[in-house]
Amino acid sequence: MIILDAFNRPLHDLRISLIDRCNFRCPYCMPSEKYHHAYQFLDKKEWLSFEEIVRLVKIFVQLGVIKLRLTGGEPLLRPDLDVLIRLLSAIKGVDDLALTTNGFLLAEWAPRLKAAGLGRLTVSLDTLDEAIFYRMSGEKGSVKEVLEGIRAAEKAGFDSIRINAVIQRGINDHTILDLVKYFRGTRHSVRFIEYMDVGNQNHWDYSQVVQSSEIITLIDSYFPLEQLKNIKSGETSEIYRFKDGQGEVGFISSVTKAFCNTCSRLRLSADGRMYTCLFATHGANLGGYLRTSASDEFITNFIRETWLKRDDHYSEIRSKLRHTPQALPKIEMFQIGG
Ligand code: SF4
Repeated sequence: MIILDAFNRPLHDLRISLIDRCNFRCPYCMPSEKYHHAYQFLDKKEWLSFEEIVRLVKIFVQLGVIKLRLTGGEPLLRPDLDVLIRLLSAIKGVDDLALTTNGFLLAEWAPRLKAAGLGRLTVSLDTLDEAIFYRMSGEKGSVKEVLEGIRAAEKAGFDSIRINAVIQRGINDHTILDLVKYFRGTRHSVRFIEYMDVGNQNHWDYSQVVQSSEIITLIDSYFPLEQLKNIKSGETSEIYRFKDGQGEVGFISSVTKAFCNTCSRLRLSADGRMYTCLFATHGANLGGYLRTSASDEFITNFIRETWLKRDDHYSEIRSKLRHTPQALPKIEMFQIGG
């Protein structure tokens, strides 16, 4: 079944946050001043159980979802994650099962994720400079561990890993070419992400954004690029190939080239709240319905009605205004995954 929202966008992708906790404290997402050791994250009892997640995913698949992305916080912190991946990869209709991680625990987890049926991996790696990485991870992580995780994932059979790098002017923009040189010629590809005003903590300002067009010009001046046609609808990144055949690089330009017109994503928080946009201010409590024994039919109709009314296009609005358009607090990115 295909359901279309108010802008005729089909529901296609579901991003599931498995946990609101993380082992990093990236200032643009989870600054340690606020999310310190005493901060009250969700209690384990509030997390959707694997049975509840599977039940919801089966309903979403009936409504057109074919792509699942597991996120967090940091999803590798969710105990027995491979058990859930095995259950999800067995659901008929789930064509694409992916996971986004900060890579810190990947060396330990990679073989189990592969064996359980995980299809694709995305690793967040904003820079290869150890000192800058340490600062950008809230003094929690190291490049060394993340690269070891990527090597372990390769060994486990993940042969084309996406590397997500958020570029901030004056923070890591001078290390862009290091990432390009490191991953060129491998089967992995870097996705450069324009810095966004996600959540309410990062004091975002347009002047901190390094536009994708600037990054493309920089890379092209060293390694000539050629843009590829986007084949998949709802794809968030623009893909370029190196003319010398040394692989691909992508650009996610939510600030300067909003892609709301093809956005086919819903997001689920770890406690089962459904959000229709990364910049949403409120979510519908599906978890509550599950736990008050609502029927599958009721939940299916509820999701359908929510999607049919969906008219989110935040990035388009922001692009025109070049500043954060709304006063209402947005959901935090670590609660629904990027
Ligand atoms: S801003 Fe919202 S509607 Fe636009 S692409 Fe992002 S999630 Fe989709």
